[in-house]
Amino acid sequence: MELTPSQVRLMMLQVADAIIAAEPMLSQADRDLGDGDHGLGMKRGMEAVKAKLEPMEPTSVEEVFVTTGTAMMTSMGGASGAIFGTVYRAGGKALAGRPAFDSEGLAFLLEAALEGVMKRGGAKPGDKTMIDAVAPAAAKARESAALPLNEALQAVAAAAEAGKEASKNMIAQFGRAKTLGEACLGFPDAGACSVVIMLNTMRDYAASCS
Ligand code: ADP
Ligand code: MG
Repeated sequence: MELTPSQVRLMMLQVADAIIAAEPMLSQADRDLGDGDHGLGMKRGMEAVKAKLEPMEPTSVEEVFVTTGTAMMTSMGGASGAIFGTVYRAGGKALAGRPAFDSEGLAFLLEAALEGVMKRGGAKPGDKTMIDAVAPAAAKARESAALPLNEALQAVAAAAEAGKEASKNMIAQFGRAKTLGEACLGFPDAGACSVVIMLNTMRDYAASCS
């Protein structure tokens, strides 16, 4: 199973709507650990993504993901604009030349996103950032690269969810939560919550096409 560039566009429009709808939850997650602006930042980013994708007639999957990343990077600002912009820009570029989006493409996307974010922000797994959801998702995507995309996305979304849950037991080393020390314990990282929403929405879209 694979998705055409037009289907990837529809999938990303659903991702944008899901993040916009989750704004109160994401704001609360960031309030528990940081300054509370994550939900509104992501909402602003996803409104910019919708404005770019709605009129688009994509000719490649790379184009859809890179446009998503550029829209987030230029509209959000702050740490998460650079971080989530890099996810989709670096991830999208790794799909250059691929005519469709399949489970092997998903593995390349997530691996390049992980590498790009680690390079850009300097955090690593265990620092209680969105990397703690992306890293297990990328590893599971590589393991699942021979499965149909809908099945791979099921496994990958579950791995991201487990990573988000594991972030509850981590002490933050980055961002505003860094000053909290052990007061971080019990709360998941807000960016990891965003990653889970994105992958769950991709999973549901692929399931609806299969
Ligand atoms: P800000 O930190 O500027 O308030 P947001 O609240 O929108 O930005 O986003 C915070 C999220 O960004 C965190 O929950 C974390 O997942 C992610 N993040 C912050 N810094 C980094 C980093 N260096 N590497 C990876 N992710 C990061
Ligand atoms: Mg914040």
